[in-house]
Amino acid sequence: MSYQGRLQQLNQAFTGGRGQTVRLKKRTTSNLFRYQGRQSPAERRISLSEFNHVLDLREESQTLEVEGLATFGQIVAATLPRGFVPTVTPELRHITVGGATVGIGIESSCHRHGFVHDGLVEADVLLADGRVVTCTPENAHADLFHALPNSYGTLGYILRAVIRLVPARPYVHIRHQRFHAVRDYLEAMEEAVRQGADDFIEGLVFARDELYLTRANFTDQATELGDIYREIYYQSVRRKKTMVLPTQQYLFRYDPDWFWNIPDTGVYRLFRRLAPRQMRSSAFYNRFTALRSKARELLRINPDMRTEKLIQDWEVPWDAAEALLNFALDRVDLAGQPWAAVPIVPRGRATLYPLQQDALYFNLGSYCLIPRAKGKEADYHTRIMDDECMRLGGIKMLYSSSFFDRATFSRVYNGTAYDALKAKYDPDAVFPTLFEKATGLR
Ligand SMILES: Cc1cc2nc3c(=O)[nH]c(=O)nc-3n(C[C@H](O)[C@H](O)[C@H](O)COP(=O)(O)OP(=O)(O)OC[C@H]3O[C@@H](n4cnc5c(N)ncnc54)[C@H](O)[C@@H]3O)c2cc1C
Repeated sequence: MSYQGRLQQLNQAFTGGRGQTVRLKKRTTSNLFRYQGRQSPAERRISLSEFNHVLDLREESQTLEVEGLATFGQIVAATLPRGFVPTVTPELRHITVGGATVGIGIESSCHRHGFVHDGLVEADVLLADGRVVTCTPENAHADLFHALPNSYGTLGYILRAVIRLVPARPYVHIRHQRFHAVRDYLEAMEEAVRQGADDFIEGLVFARDELYLTRANFTDQATELGDIYREIYYQSVRRKKTMVLPTQQYLFRYDPDWFWNIPDTGVYRLFRRLAPRQMRSSAFYNRFTALRSKARELLRINPDMRTEKLIQDWEVPWDAAEALLNFALDRVDLAGQPWAAVPIVPRGRATLYPLQQDALYFNLGSYCLIPRAKGKEADYHTRIMDDECMRLGGIKMLYSSSFFDRATFSRVYNGTAYDALKAKYDPDAVFPTLFEKATGLR
């Protein structure tokens, strides 16, 4: 069936139940990571899972037309054999183009290309009243186009997108450099961005005196070829100064171990060795941990009270990078797991994620469970990191739990503009508001 055919089917399904609030139903696993479940039983779930096709690669304009629920795994499988990849490819292969656009996607190419959403050229958006509108940076729906990033489906769902591509080579040559002090490390990262010679720049920070800067470039040479299914990528950073990976493996290098969430114990080592590759993926682990939590709930086994989920990304202007990283290293114990550091230069303007275009930002991410702070509330580390990020003039992504009050939320995420857009595109509140979705508060 064609895209137009799927649109017709959707139109029939959507018009059936007016007056109810709506949420997205999809086939791939979600990468929203709220600490508490949020779904209200009164919601009507609308399935967009069929909108998952890669439509058309246009070599002359270096763009790809793709449906909103296609995953980056699918996209790279279609574009790489033809010598292209998206400007920014999130590291988890089952993240979708629609999800990463409305939910802020980053990667080690962000110093060049900005965020995932900066590569968006055009989008078809399903609005709350069932209409599908095409928006571009200049047309009558430009306000919606610029408000898609950080809207989390609360203004509409992306059914089709045109995204920018960049030329790619079959391999990526990776160089890791260790630093022993925060300031030296950040200076080197900034200098790498300034030189502009690297296709990819990122960092892993294990401790105050163990900081790795990774710089990487596309190459045609397959010498020293590594394999992330045999060697755990984030561990190899500590052991090797250089390596080469097939481009597809580089782009999804954290996927087989869900960053660093798969414990390095006997059972898992065996699993890593024997499991087929499709089970060595964040999507599989995601499903597995969700099932395990359900089983624990049913068996009334108490949740783990010793750990806190610290799965968050914070961004600050570059001149506050040192303060944020020092604060994180002083106040949060990741129990030997690394912080992820990415330099980002936003290339456009996003109404609901208001950062300065072409300025350098420092993104700090934590993607793991950590020991809970003794005698403190369950989300203690999330809260202190949020506060410090805000104090430093930064912003945080909203894919995980957030504890903002309404006024702060509105100030940070351009609430005035959001309210006007919401009134224009979803006047009957068919979709939840961004504040409701991000905080779980009504
Ligand atoms: C553990 C973890 C690791 C992550 N790692 C990375 C990473 O490596 N790189 C990175 O860039 N980001 C990462 N993220 C953030 C991720 O990109 C965002 O959470 C993104 O929104 C997930 O997209 P998804 O396709 O999985 O969508 P979902 O998680 O299913 O949905 C996310 C939100 O987007 C909305 N949405 C989904 N599809 C659409 C659509 N077509 N149109 C409009 N709204 C839609 C949903 O309603 C929901 O509110 C990570 C998040 C987590 C929790």
